[in-house]
Amino acid sequence: MDLGLKDRVAVVTGGSSGIGLATVKLLLADGVKVAFCGRDRGRLDSALAPLADAYGDAVMAETCDVLDAGQVEQFAKSVRARFGKVDILVANAGQGLMRAFEDTEDEVWRTEFELKFFSLIRPVRAFEADLARSDAGAIVAVNSLLARQPEKHMIATSALRAGAMNFLKTLSVELAPKGIRVNSILLGVIESGQWDRRYKSMAEPGETKEAWLRRLARARGIPLERFGRPEEPAAALIFLASPAASYITGATLEVAGGVSRFV
Ligand code: NDP
Repeated sequence: MDLGLKDRVAVVTGGSSGIGLATVKLLLADGVKVAFCGRDRGRLDSALAPLADAYGDAVMAETCDVLDAGQVEQFAKSVRARFGKVDILVANAGQGLMRAFEDTEDEVWRTEFELKFFSLIRPVRAFEADLARSDAGAIVAVNSLLARQPEKHMIATSALRAGAMNFLKTLSVELAPKGIRVNSILLGVIESGQWDRRYKSMAEPGETKEAWLRRLARARGIPLERFGRPEEPAAALIFLASPAASYITGATLEVAGGVSRFV
């Protein structure tokens, strides 16, 4: 199926690792020009180098903290200068916070609020006018199954993911008259940078990463019996962002190996 992506321009926040990087790669392979960002220059350069070799001027990367309005504006200016337009915004940057209520101080709640909401608000503000000028403007956001199925060891992330889901639904209504669709994916557990970091601190001594992930997948009762791979949510994001999904807005798509318990 032709997704209608050729010669489109996409922006991916948090494109230097995990799901974001997999999305950048699949978009480039589909003929899309891609700009991505992250905070760490070294990680960004390592991700960019092989892609620039393969795709030349069709890919660019810039350091940008999506929580900093000035940096996001500057990133948007650079993207306009390089590509002249933006059709797709993939709001992916972020990470989850493993804390129960008793360990979550006020300041931690505020920081998590800032991350979960402003990682959406700032990029949407910066790119909204560009997306409105496109004949196929689309925003896709990475959200978590925690929005609908909270877990006690991630109380702040769960509550704020639910708020973000609500926000995205309203945004889809407000932006529809401008021709911008807004959708999101609800993730279960996907192997990525943040699970690499957790493996280092949480695995039993001598346990391989594969064995640890298998043990976690079993403990969580994931029907497909494994973690997802970054390219699996990436494929869902790209479908929702593409003109092939032209009548889909305000929707959420689970990419979670069947682990949700609601219907
Ligand atoms: P990774 O840690 O592999 O990738 C996160 C990416 O986001 C990196 O490129 C990171 O680069 C970037 N990033 C983080 N914070 C910022 C920021 N403030 N500004 C700009 N870039 C930022 O993790 P994942 O691929 O797993 O995470 C992608 C998204 O998926 C996140 O929003 C995460 O919360 C969500 N998610 C993931 C799940 C999973 O199981 N993997 C489950 C549910 C949700 P840098 O650090 O250099 O800025």
